[in-house]
Amino acid sequence: MAYGEFCTGIVDREQNVFFLNLDYGIGVGILIEGQLYYGKSGYAGELGHVPIFDNEIICHCGKKGCLETEASGWALTRMFREKLNEGSTSVLTRKGLSPDQIQMQDIIAAALNDDVLAIELIAKLGENVGRGIAFLINVFNPELVILGGSLAQTQEYIQLPVKTALNKYSLSLVNKDTEVKMSSLGEHAGIIGACLLVRDRVLSLI
Ligand SMILES: [Zn+2]
Repeated sequence: MAYGEFCTGIVDREQNVFFLNLDYGIGVGILIEGQLYYGKSGYAGELGHVPIFDNEIICHCGKKGCLETEASGWALTRMFREKLNEGSTSVLTRKGLSPDQIQMQDIIAAALNDDVLAIELIAKLGENVGRGIAFLINVFNPELVILGGSLAQTQEYIQLPVKTALNKYSLSLVNKDTEVKMSSLGEHAGIIGACLLVRDRVLSLI
């Protein structure tokens, strides 16, 4: 997804870029000085498992307090179900869905349909994602951060709280250089990027 966005998406001439895949988990594709960065074993970019939160929620990885426990589609679904069980209302319950049946894509669709609970929780999620991005900005001073993946379909509902969180959590000295943009390839980023990666490896362009 990141490579697709770097080659034919929202990236223009920027050389230091992070692409966030915001889905049930959080992965990051990294471009440093114009080159893809993989790390020693190919696992670079596991931002979702940075232990940012002091909570007792066990992550899929087995540890607790990971960014993913409060800032992923998995967290959004959990928080949404909790709110419904506490008595909150949503257009999704009017459709006859029980809390346990509700999935991330239902919540995204509800937000785009003006559902207040979905919009509120996506804003909360955006703030938490912003805490993770603030960490990246302070360490790497990138030019551009791209929000992609399923949750990026919510556009400004997630982008604005991310930006507010960056003002709050990252150093202004560093973040004034960083733009935050939405993916322009959307759900096609992965397939386009995979094709370009094969082409460029075969032709030895990278
Ligand atoms: Zn984890």
